[in-house]
Amino acid sequence: MTNETLTNLVRDMATGAIRVVDLSVPLDENTQVIGLPEEFEQSPGFKLERISQYDDKGPAWYWNKISCGEHTGTHFDAPGHWVTGKDYNDGYTDTIAPEKLIAAANVIDVSKESAEDADYVLTADKVKAWEAEHGAIEAGTWVLMRTDWSKRTGADFLNIDENGSHCPGPSPDCIEYLVKERDVLGFGVETVGTDAGQGFHFDPPLPAHTLMHGNNKLGLASLTNLDQLPPKGAVIVTPPLKIVNGSGSPLRVIALAP
Ligand code: MN
Repeated sequence: MTNETLTNLVRDMATGAIRVVDLSVPLDENTQVIGLPEEFEQSPGFKLERISQYDDKGPAWYWNKISCGEHTGTHFDAPGHWVTGKDYNDGYTDTIAPEKLIAAANVIDVSKESAEDADYVLTADKVKAWEAEHGAIEAGTWVLMRTDWSKRTGADFLNIDENGSHCPGPSPDCIEYLVKERDVLGFGVETVGTDAGQGFHFDPPLPAHTLMHGNNKLGLASLTNLDQLPPKGAVIVTPPLKIVNGSGSPLRVIALAP
């Protein structure tokens, strides 16, 4: 059987007609991770320890031990990450169908709004206005919220004050719309988690976790370079590590863009 689609794809990638864009942040001990209220157990950041590097411990080879929480740096949220999604047999890093790990992306640019208001909330009405301009969001596709938050460095990234973190995110009615009316694959963001910094005050709290995962949908956090993608037309490749019963994992997210 011949199919020219794949041949054309690699040819177009070689000529640059299709761009390959890395949507992942570097992973080292400075990679920022989410902090929870102090009564909860915290997730450790990334740690690298050398096993050997062409030395007495291994004269011709270099390798390291790595450790971190599953939700570190650019990472994947599986449905089983949340209590509302715990009963999906295909909702863990080793059981998610591989067909779900390559999909089209809709990129909603709210970078201007997010620059003006760190607590900016993406609503269903804003999504509908975006669709009126760019076309409807198809079932089985990603919605990526571009905030340019990945351009922030240091303390400005988590943006914490005495009331907690202040970062943009989706409203409950936004997630409700994307799940019920659009049957999306998942929701991805540039911030440390898929919900707004103040999202625990929403009803329901943390809708991108509660409602997305409750409907067997996926999440992507700490993405970067969303400013290099068109509103529609990009495809993203998002396989997490195949951790048995994993709730998520750091990953390399690669976009193919026209
Ligand atoms: Mn996560």
